[in-house]
Amino acid sequence: MRERMARFMMGRNGTDQLAKFFLYLSLILIVITMFNHNPIVYLLAIASLVYSYFRMMSRNIQKRYYENQQYLRMTDKIRAFFRNLAGKIRYQKSKAVYDREQRKIYKIFYCPSCKQKIRAPKGKGKICITCPKCKMEFIKRT
Ligand SMILES: [Zn+2]
Repeated sequence: MRERMARFMMGRNGTDQLAKFFLYLSLILIVITMFNHNPIVYLLAIASLVYSYFRMMSRNIQKRYYENQQYLRMTDKIRAFFRNLAGKIRYQKSKAVYDREQRKIYKIFYCPSCKQKIRAPKGKGKICITCPKCKMEFIKRT
């Protein structure tokens, strides 16, 4: 079955970004038609789906490649924006995890003199902390 599918897809364009775009677009439009039964939206959903499959099945790979490149060029800025956004979200998430881990091991103090942030290991009882910045000493319970 898988072999037959592979043979069927030989010499065809297959899934490219533009085909994916229309596939997702059709899915979104189908979801929309579930709420408002607009026949035009439904027609657009079907058209997107058909076009997406047309791209995947197409034997004119050269032409499909050119169209896909054009699509990528046109949406370059938008896609870069979402890539950056995804990167930022990933960074914030890993930072939150790191902070949470740090809070388990360390207690955060602020130097009473220069407000420098100082972390000290938890569960050591009363300790004398020396500020690394202004050398001020103060006693805290960790
Ligand atoms: Zn200080």
